[in-house]
Amino acid sequence: LGKAYSFMVRNRIPGGKITATQFLGELDIADELGNGTIRITTRQSIQLHGVVKANLWSTIHRINEIKLSTQSACGDVTRNVCCCPAPLRQNGLRDRLQEIADEIAVHVRPKTQAYHEIWIKDPQSGERQQVVGPPDEPEPDPIYGKAYLPRKFKIGLALSDDNCIDVYDNDLGLLGVTSGDELVGFNVLVGGGMGTTPSKKNCFPALAHRLTFVTPDQLLPIITAIILVQRDFGNRADRSQARMKYLIHNLGLAAFKAKVESYLSEAESICGVADGSLPRPLPAPNPVDVTRHDDHMGWHAQGDGKFFLGLPIENGRVKDDGPLRLKTALRKLFTDHVSNARLTAQQNILLCDLEEDQRDTIQQLLAEHGVVTVDQISNARRFAFACPALPTCGLAITESERVLPTVIGAVEAELSLLGLADEQFTIRMTGCPNGCARPYNADIGLVGRSADGKTGEGRYTLFIGGNLLGTRMNKVFKDQVPMSRIVDELRPVLVHFKQHRTAGESLGDYCNRVGVEALLQLDQET
Ligand code: SF4
Repeated sequence: LGKAYSFMVRNRIPGGKITATQFLGELDIADELGNGTIRITTRQSIQLHGVVKANLWSTIHRINEIKLSTQSACGDVTRNVCCCPAPLRQNGLRDRLQEIADEIAVHVRPKTQAYHEIWIKDPQSGERQQVVGPPDEPEPDPIYGKAYLPRKFKIGLALSDDNCIDVYDNDLGLLGVTSGDELVGFNVLVGGGMGTTPSKKNCFPALAHRLTFVTPDQLLPIITAIILVQRDFGNRADRSQARMKYLIHNLGLAAFKAKVESYLSEAESICGVADGSLPRPLPAPNPVDVTRHDDHMGWHAQGDGKFFLGLPIENGRVKDDGPLRLKTALRKLFTDHVSNARLTAQQNILLCDLEEDQRDTIQQLLAEHGVVTVDQISNARRFAFACPALPTCGLAITESERVLPTVIGAVEAELSLLGLADEQFTIRMTGCPNGCARPYNADIGLVGRSADGKTGEGRYTLFIGGNLLGTRMNKVFKDQVPMSRIVDELRPVLVHFKQHRTAGESLGDYCNRVGVEALLQLDQET
């Protein structure tokens, strides 16, 4: 017998915008060709797990038939473009932001015909099937050339008062600058990325640097120029050094900026705009920065007479499991009640465009299927999420998705005892240092480090001192902590936080102010 290969298949869904037909299609594909579950990812997409090799073509083909795609959801290209998904229409800001995200996604989509040849063309008739985006474009690709990028490249868009996508974690973050209800431009942030290899001293997670400010019509040329610099100067010899953050670290931000400026004419030509459309030198960033985070959970008026419901999905996993029949509930909702949805970067879902008189029916249907809404879970659980890790991720060292609910249960008990249940802070867990669940700017990060050779119990590095805003890196507090001792190690920090915080100070802010060394000292004295 040969090996039984199993694949993860990831969609590309810019801004997490998905219709009921598409969501139901993904559920059908998962049931018929995958492991019967779907997973909402930290980049507003959907992953299918357990797709065996014999089903791979049918899976990708069927995803294209529901007018979604898997092209450039993986690989050394620009990945799924993230954008605040909330359908808030009190002003036109979010609609405009989402339109821009769609334009960027089309612009940076690889132009190769290979994807269509392999996955879309009918192998019998050779006829092209329905595809997403314009299918016939020239090669070599004007942005990616023949060699594509040295490594994956991530773009995300946010507004300063709503950093729900963690804009500073992207290779290229675009932070909207507004004047009243008008989107006047973007601060361009470069060099974010969470992945690292702890055994290599020159690897590190990083938040992006503030590079410049551009107006909306200057966006595509600046994005193109930055990608071209990474394409031509990113490290292709050492994959662990290939992300753009290392190029910026090695060059320095000023030299990187000069390189971007030297590519502006080529970028303007690729984008079909006049040479000199962007100023040289590029201006300094606008002072605007992130001030707020909103996970968009619960019921909200959209501002157009309709409502949306932000529904927490624990670790993004859509499945039926005992009394929790989430998959069945979502199937019924998307069949009978909901036409549109958005996927969030916290792996949750927004059910959109609902009428006020649907609220009771939807609440009742969720309750009948054991699905909880945000008012029925703790803040600790609401803001926590994990990467998939074991058993589906080939890079996983420890458990993550399957154990985080238990860890959160223990944290909840501790917080209740201390009277801290109302605190808002992030706990993010991963099964290896690659950081897919963005653990390095969370208030508490739990990163899989090793596994006990006998019991298999995972040991984790504990990080503290990040923030809900996503604007600060945390620091290592303890290393090689067995999963069963995570809360024991955090308890003294929580106790000191309760006793010594300033008014309104968050857990992450307290840990950052006091410092890891002082907290370790206090820990020994406790
Ligand atoms: Fe990403 Fe590592 Fe988690 Fe796999 S185990 S999903 S590579 S963080």
